Amino acid sequence: MTKLKGQVAIITGASSGIGRATAYALASEGCHLVLTARREERLKEVKEKGEAMGSKVVYYVGDVCQEKTAIQTVSLAIETFGRIDILVNNAGIGKLIPLVESTSDDYYEIMDTNVFSSFIFSKYAAIEMLKKRQGKIIFVSSVTGHVGHEDETIYTMTKFAQRGLSQAIDKELRSQGIKTCVVCPSATKTEFEVGYGRTKESVEAAHWETADDVAQGILYACKAENTVWEIRMR
Ligand code: NDP
Repeated sequence: MTKLKGQVAIITGASSGIGRATAYALASEGCHLVLTARREERLKEVKEKGEAMGSKVVYYVGDVCQEKTAIQTVSLAIETFGRIDILVNNAGIGKLIPLVESTSDDYYEIMDTNVFSSFIFSKYAAIEMLKKRQGKIIFVSSVTGHVGHEDETIYTMTKFAQRGLSQAIDKELRSQGIKTCVVCPSATKTEFEVGYGRTKESVEAAHWETADDVAQGILYACKAENTVWEIRMR
């Protein structure tokens, strides 16, 4: 029996890339899963594979920029399993845009997807975790949360913000049994990296981390007894 067997994990952005790989990594440890993203067909595939691995899997289809998605996903977890042990705040987007070409719409879209979602899912999950005085909240930030990058002004802000959010929650809730960890991957071979001159093939050929590599880091954070407050991948 593994340490995580029977635990319940919510994963945002579970329809592809790092979120999907994390779903499989947690399923392989016997976790039950509550998935969310917008693409239902993708979520169905992850659910089927997770169930084939022996986990119970449910999902909520929604936009993480909406508070309702956090409320409904957390409710689904409680109605189905009666508890939440792990939240992985993974959903995210990025855009390569020079500062002077960035619009307010770009700002709100990237901020809401990456930061508001992390805040609002953490809030509603923490309300449930505090009832049992235990839980882990994992944030998928980035090495861009440490070092700003050109043409990624807004994305850089979001990834710094997620590290701050993780630290603040750790200070506030650790004494009440809630531990946080912020995982900072470097370039990873996912759909996120396709576009802006990069093809699926060129991303696949790059000497980067894979989604499975990052998922192993997240798994480590979930299993660690004591707080591993940050995992910086390179
Ligand atoms: P993917 O594009 O493969 O996955 C992104 C996930 O986020 C998808 O499941 C997508 O689901 C979900 N998502 C995006 N926008 C929304 C939204 N508005 N509502 C609900 N779900 C949404 O990328 P990655 O797996 O690479 O990215 C995961 C995280 O890793 C992000 O936070 C990213 O910043 C971070 N990261 C990625 C790196 C990389 O090089 N790939 C490097 C460092 C960090 P759907 O479209 O179905 O809604």
